[in-house]
Amino acid sequence: MLASLCSLAFAQEPFLSSQQWTLIRDEVNGVAPYENLRYLTGLHRVPGTPAFDQAAHFIVERAQGYGLDDAHSEQFPIDGVKTYGLMRSYLAWNVQSGELWEMQPRHVLIANAITDPIRLADYSHTNSVETSLIDVGSGMNQADYTGKNVRGKIVLADGVLSRVQQLAVAERGAAGILSDMPNQTTAWSGLDPTLVRWGHLDARQSAGFAFMISRQTAGMLRARLAAGEDIVLSAQVKATVGPGNWTVDTATIPGTDPSAGQVVFSCHLDHERPGANDDGSGCVTILEAARALERLVQSGALPRPKRTIRFIWGPEHEGTMAFLATHPDIMKDLRANVHMDMVGGDPFKNKAVMHVTETPWSLPSFVTDVGAVFLEAIRWAASAYAEGDGSPEQALVEDTGTRNEFFADVTPFDAGSDHDDYDSSTIAVPSLYLRDWPDTYIHTDHDSLDQMDATKLRRVAALGAAAGYVYAALDSAKLPLILPFLCAQSETRMATSFSKARNWINDSGLAPDAAWYEADNLLAQSLNRECATLHSLVVFAGGPANSESEGVNALNAQAATFKSWLAKQATARGAKAPAAPWTVNSVTTQVPVRIAPFGPIENQNDDALLARLGKERYSRIKLLNGNSGHYVSVLDQAGLFAYEILNFVNGKRSVGEIRDAVSAEYHPISVDLVADYLEALAAARIIRLDRARNDQ
Ligand SMILES: [Zn+2]
Repeated sequence: MLASLCSLAFAQEPFLSSQQWTLIRDEVNGVAPYENLRYLTGLHRVPGTPAFDQAAHFIVERAQGYGLDDAHSEQFPIDGVKTYGLMRSYLAWNVQSGELWEMQPRHVLIANAITDPIRLADYSHTNSVETSLIDVGSGMNQADYTGKNVRGKIVLADGVLSRVQQLAVAERGAAGILSDMPNQTTAWSGLDPTLVRWGHLDARQSAGFAFMISRQTAGMLRARLAAGEDIVLSAQVKATVGPGNWTVDTATIPGTDPSAGQVVFSCHLDHERPGANDDGSGCVTILEAARALERLVQSGALPRPKRTIRFIWGPEHEGTMAFLATHPDIMKDLRANVHMDMVGGDPFKNKAVMHVTETPWSLPSFVTDVGAVFLEAIRWAASAYAEGDGSPEQALVEDTGTRNEFFADVTPFDAGSDHDDYDSSTIAVPSLYLRDWPDTYIHTDHDSLDQMDATKLRRVAALGAAAGYVYAALDSAKLPLILPFLCAQSETRMATSFSKARNWINDSGLAPDAAWYEADNLLAQSLNRECATLHSLVVFAGGPANSESEGVNALNAQAATFKSWLAKQATARGAKAPAAPWTVNSVTTQVPVRIAPFGPIENQNDDALLARLGKERYSRIKLLNGNSGHYVSVLDQAGLFAYEILNFVNGKRSVGEIRDAVSAEYHPISVDLVADYLEALAAARIIRLDRARNDQ
């Protein structure tokens, strides 16, 4: 076992010395975040509610207690209209009471929102009714209501709540909804019928309430209704939906050089009770990283880094957008992001793997490689310890936590949390996104402290703190050590792209000449991405121009070899020459230019494209309406394509070039889909489409 222990001593290199890594590893602990999580999981943390503000107050008190600088809360007004960047604000919600009883034929309490808040869907409106329950199936389709009079009644439905609210309440006068809507499906979905899931109504609709019940309870009610029982329910809801505030906490560890920019740690403080992994875990883990780094820097154990380290806790997407829109000076200063959303699950309970998630291809960056190195360091140590070697200190094991291995890997970009904002082209702060995925208990009443592991929390706190410190302290003196390492990482990713390109050449769905083009394109885009990754490090560290040239030469040589191998394979399949699947014409040579305020199209409760175009025009966007071809729709990747198409808009790339860029990142896609989507963005005045410039 000597080999693995030797590897351990150098596992954190080239980014930290073993002394620095040991300092961070020994300072972070998993008990503090676990106990802080105990408090947060008692609160129903819906944005714009008193319970959310209570959670925000708790975080600020802790941050002040840990000695962080400038720890405070900020309030951002919301009214459903006011915008922050491209995003429209949402609404606040205040619940005084919410009870649902079965009155006839039995007398039994189904839900009490004060003692068990998850059972009342967010943004439920005031109502007081005693009425019959009626089964409308999913309640998502007009046909679900055929021959049924739901006026004044409570509908039992398992469809998406906002859609049921529209069809049953707004269009047909139902009083409210009883829902067992499943969401976030995984292979384990349905195995536990007792889970109660989170529900959100559309706060912009003016009426309706919904109570959430388990599949088991809903199944029994459906059976009774089917047998002809008249089930009478009494619903009493007192709640208001309207203007209010989002609260966002922030605190810093000041750097030595105010002109060197800032590194930002983020998470999201909102979500239903208990919301332990999603995302109480991220909130308490960045707080622990903050505590550990503050202590190490304040005591002089680690040199104070040149960049300021900032921490932000707010509502998902909404807090990020509100904070950045209100502080354009800080937004401009941000250089890198560490985002944690679901990082504390015990994998033997929630079935999750912890992922270091790459930045999208539109924003190549070395930040992922830094996180990947610490992931490996912890993984080796955890394995060695699990096998009976190594020490609990090296493996970051807590007495009150598990002795599990660290189930973790590096995965391609995926959307779904605030890193979408940071990574988007108009903010362009590369994000190290840490996440457990999937999680069998996500968005249910079982996402509780019972599924959390103090050892896991400690490991992720160490990973995040180490990466954040590297970003904050990095300067050009380290480039000679880091560049060769990073180049080797880039070569590994190039080899992965080569394997994928080989598969495309043999893809029977592509004609031989077109397949050759797509394979070459993948290789070329991959080479661009890796050269840009090396460049990102040099710019970040403030190194001399072209410091990365040796690495770039090596990557070019590697790409040339791969390209010649692809040519042999394509020829063997009968290809004559690479043939582009799109032609140079007046559509494909247009150059899109961003004109709307900053931010991605989609945020938590807002879709800027839908809001600006209206439902009818939006429904005709081919990429999003299910007419986008097998690959895009079956793999449910339309959202990722859309996100990246807009990110690749930089005022220089043409429509055809954007098509090639997203095709390499995900899968070959028709240029018509890309052009059609960009035309919709232009119709919504998010971009404008310029004619090709001949002077370039
Ligand atoms: Zn989350």
